[in-house]
Amino acid sequence: IGHMGISHIHTSAGSSTPPSTAGTAVDGQVLLPRLHLIDEDKQFSDGLSRYISEKWNLKDSGFNYNIAAVFGSQSTGKSTLLNRLFGTNFDVMSESARMQTTKGIWISKGKDMKVLIMDVEGTDGRERGEDQDFERKSALFSLATSEVLIVNMWEHQVGLYNGANMGLLKTVFEVNLQLFGGNRGKEKTLLLFVIRDHVGVTPLANLSNTLRADLDMIWQGLSKVLYIAESASFQSISLLCHDEDGLEQCKITDYFDFMFTTLSHKLLQPEKFESEIDQLRLRFMNPSDPNYVFQPQYSRCVPADGLHVYAQSIWEKIMTNKDLDLPTQQELLAQFRCDEIANAAFMVFTEAIKEFRHPIEAGHLVDGLGPKMKEIRSTAIKSFDKDASRYHSEVYKRKRTEVLAKSNTMLKSYFLGQLKNLHKKAIMLFSAKLQEALRKEGAEFAIVSSAAKNEAAEFFLEGAKAIKLDETDWEYDEELYQVEHDLQELSAAQREKELAKMSTELEKRLQRELDEPIKLALDKPGPAMWDRVITIYQRKIKDAETVLHKKAKTFELDEKELESLVENLRKQGWVLVTMKVQEECVDGLILYKLLSRFEEMFQRDDQGLPRVWKPVDDIDTPFCKARDETMALIPLYARIVNLDPATGTPFRLESSEDFDFDQSLHVISKSRQQELATQFKRKADASYVEAKRSTVVTQVK
Ligand code: GDP
Ligand code: MG
Repeated sequence: IGHMGISHIHTSAGSSTPPSTAGTAVDGQVLLPRLHLIDEDKQFSDGLSRYISEKWNLKDSGFNYNIAAVFGSQSTGKSTLLNRLFGTNFDVMSESARMQTTKGIWISKGKDMKVLIMDVEGTDGRERGEDQDFERKSALFSLATSEVLIVNMWEHQVGLYNGANMGLLKTVFEVNLQLFGGNRGKEKTLLLFVIRDHVGVTPLANLSNTLRADLDMIWQGLSKVLYIAESASFQSISLLCHDEDGLEQCKITDYFDFMFTTLSHKLLQPEKFESEIDQLRLRFMNPSDPNYVFQPQYSRCVPADGLHVYAQSIWEKIMTNKDLDLPTQQELLAQFRCDEIANAAFMVFTEAIKEFRHPIEAGHLVDGLGPKMKEIRSTAIKSFDKDASRYHSEVYKRKRTEVLAKSNTMLKSYFLGQLKNLHKKAIMLFSAKLQEALRKEGAEFAIVSSAAKNEAAEFFLEGAKAIKLDETDWEYDEELYQVEHDLQELSAAQREKELAKMSTELEKRLQRELDEPIKLALDKPGPAMWDRVITIYQRKIKDAETVLHKKAKTFELDEKELESLVENLRKQGWVLVTMKVQEECVDGLILYKLLSRFEEMFQRDDQGLPRVWKPVDDIDTPFCKARDETMALIPLYARIVNLDPATGTPFRLESSEDFDFDQSLHVISKSRQQELATQFKRKADASYVEAKRSTVVTQVK
């Protein structure tokens, strides 16, 4: 049986289904949707992303999918093969209509397997320059994206070195050098030759040997005879080929693995054909099959969710005839996709952290802010990692650092806000605690204030520690310093207040203790009167000083402070003394004191009994004595005699701006003394006249 040209065969498998991008039902069977990835105008479809996620359900597959393409002359049954093999729905040329199927590249997903298959149509146009261009472009595209390239050919084409198929393979090799030239051995491609209409006379081994020989020949021709390129991108091949120890030495097997298989005539041996197809399918489906085609070394390392970006950018590069550097392409893809993935993660992130804004701005503390921020950040990073970690590792790592830094920056304002609120709360806590403690009986300021200070600082520190996330450069030292500083100031101010309160209390007490004894001392005028006053003052001041010394400990007063407090106390005490003296020497009171003293001397006898004057009595002498002695008291009252009774030396206090010691000694001015003397004399004279009159009255009786 010789080869039978396809034109002589009546096929029933042919279909005239119009080109469509949607899945259609044939014989009630729902077929997998396919996509016209690159159309006859070389436009790249914008539907790939949607097909991957919605129609083929591959979006979350990561690296867990495979991709293959078919290559070969027109009408060699490629689409028929794919449809049988993968259950796809690619257009098959209608035998009756004989119409050329749509040019371009179609893509679909294999039934029940995570395999994407590209049907490259119309690659066989050796004569027309325009078609050669498309052939080269689609070869470049298929090689850049596919792990396995199925090369479909008739058995009778084998060994025809100049045949159309070999021209196609030459193109494949050339563009492969363009793609992987600098990265030999890094990414390999498997070429799976499917020899169609295998009659069975020539065994597969012979066929494959012939093919291998042909392939080697093409390869030799490639590296020895420099390909003179017309386009800029081909020039780079010739440059590479010039490289002495570069491509000249490299072997075809550095770039390709080969696999050969045959298929019987679909129409003449339909059953055999079908069973061979079933066998062949296992190579694509079953990883434990010895001939499993999708080996890791063929992987292009493009995650499913990034395939659309990658494929499109590859096609654009091809169209603009720029150098196609696959590693760079993968980096670009990684950058693009990592950005997209990061943005998606950030959307969730920003939404999640929103809830903190209002409470923090309103000055509230957010409970558990630290763990919450950590949780949100780690969710974002995890969601980024999940998709992005599959991409180019350098780019991924760099982007990850960016994502972390950006989320930290966004969280930092909450960190700072909460710190500020903690600061405020710590201050409030301090004041409340201090007031509460001071209200207690016997509270010692130094102790209670330092306890309150510690508690407040600890509160701040605990709160700050709890919101400082790892992997950040966040610090709270500055704020802590501020808090401690504020606490110190507040505490010092409070101490001033408490000290003033204590001094006032001391003075009041002093006043209470001074008033009565001084009044008594002044009521008994005489030379010892001022000694008594000074002694009272000194004794009471001494008592107050003892109290002050005790208080000094609770306020942790230093020597200077204590000294000035003591000095102040002495002065205040003295002022109180002089005030009391003044009070006792106001006009009415002093006159009353003088008169009492005078009357005591004049009107009472030695036993202190009231005198009854008789006409014989000498009134004048006792009157003069009592009057003169009393008069002599006026200058005594008029000025405090500041002699220390213990030493006999003058007792003094330091004068200051608002205190003049010498001035404080003056009690009654000269003019008032005069006045007093006049008033007293008038009253004394009246007493004298009264005494005289009483004798007359006695006489008359
Ligand atoms: P493509 O252009 O390579 O995709 O080829 P098609 O799948 O459209 O098929 C072209 C023609 O070849 C159709 O009429 C098919 O019926 C026919 N055909 C399909 N498979 C075989 C086969 O195994 N042997 C032969 N001789 N013809 C086939
Ligand atoms: Mg086809």
